[in-house]
Amino acid sequence: MPHRASLAARPAAVKPQRVAGGPSIASAAAMDLLEYQGKQLFARHGLAVSDGRAVTSVDDAVAAADELGYPVVVKAQVLIGGRGKAGGVKLAASADEVREHAGNILGMDIRGHVVHELWIEKASDIADEYYASILLDRSAKRPLLMFSTEGGVDIEEVAEKTPERLVRHHIDALEGLSRAEALEVAARGDADEDVREGIADILVALYEVWSREDATLTEINPLIVTPEREVKALDAKVTLDGNALFRHPDNAAFTVKGAVDPIEEKAKALGLQYVALDGDIGIMGNGAGLAMSTLDVVAQAGGDPANFLDAAGGASAEVIQTGVEVILSNPRVRAVLFNIFGGITRCDEVARGLLAAFAELDTDIPFVVRLDGTNDVEGRRILEEAQIPNVHPATTMNEAAEMVVALAKER
Ligand code: GDP
Ligand code: MN
Repeated sequence: MPHRASLAARPAAVKPQRVAGGPSIASAAAMDLLEYQGKQLFARHGLAVSDGRAVTSVDDAVAAADELGYPVVVKAQVLIGGRGKAGGVKLAASADEVREHAGNILGMDIRGHVVHELWIEKASDIADEYYASILLDRSAKRPLLMFSTEGGVDIEEVAEKTPERLVRHHIDALEGLSRAEALEVAARGDADEDVREGIADILVALYEVWSREDATLTEINPLIVTPEREVKALDAKVTLDGNALFRHPDNAAFTVKGAVDPIEEKAKALGLQYVALDGDIGIMGNGAGLAMSTLDVVAQAGGDPANFLDAAGGASAEVIQTGVEVILSNPRVRAVLFNIFGGITRCDEVARGLLAAFAELDTDIPFVVRLDGTNDVEGRRILEEAQIPNVHPATTMNEAAEMVVALAKER
């Protein structure tokens, strides 16, 4: 059930913005959680999930299963869907079976995602598999709740072939999701009557997770009905808005080993907004808007940006130095464009930051530096006097873009 690359992630309404025809930078703030991390958030808001343990070794998997009681499910924890089909979700009725499955799944490569962690969960009996999700519908400027009794399967297929089986309901963010609305959604979806109250509980809790935790996506596939007619989340896909993390210090612990580019991590720790792209021209601008337009002019000049980097307002010498280090730690970079518009940031300070960075780094990668605004004359004078052979001052943005593209091609 590959719903991790599914409907919720892809309607036109939530397509991330593109920069210069290149990769998305909107994803910079998206923080995808592993299934068990999502379930922890669910539990925090009273949304029914099964008991389980996260482990990283076969022995710990067996110990966890012994504690939970058999049968259990052994589940690969990776940021990709369709784990079941790939053999990353297995029922185990005994310690021997846990040992076997855990051994097979740990280290497994699920479409490029290597399994380092397992979730051992008390197994559930399933009578029905439903689907529920809430995502941010940017075009409607509202959260969109979706519900279907055709869960467990690829929900995109349901949306395409039997769209009437997928109920869509926009939520008023100021009013929240009322119980009456949730019940109506369950009824519109034609859920069995005796479980509609249980489904409403889940939908209300799912919206609570979505809004209180600053999520942009909360998805349950499958949402199951047990033979005892209980309703609970058997899977969890949650994406948090990383820009809202300051409101949720606890959620910062939900980092996933190996999922974040280490360079991005380093930049983030220093307050720099860095996003790796596919090209070979390093970019730094002070301010997100300037950095984005720098990507555009470089693309227009025929170049291919290697990254997005916003040095933010106060481009102190230390920040500049870190920015240079971060850009150059990408081995694909052949030339770099620094585009600084001095406002509160003074160009002379940026120039001194560059000199400090060059003294430390000893690189022969060409740098085009466009300084404009507060103290720009002073800044350019500092650079020229230093006579660093691979630093090329420029005055306009277009001139700078053309220079850097030419220099990248020479190498
Ligand atoms: P995904 O394939 O990555 O979406 O992983 P899921 O967590 O959705 O699991 C895949 C499938 O495994 C589910 O749709 C269920 O059919 C099955 N499954 C997962 N947990 C259990 C369980 O506790 N009991 C049973 N019987 N099946 C389960
Ligand atoms: Mn699933």
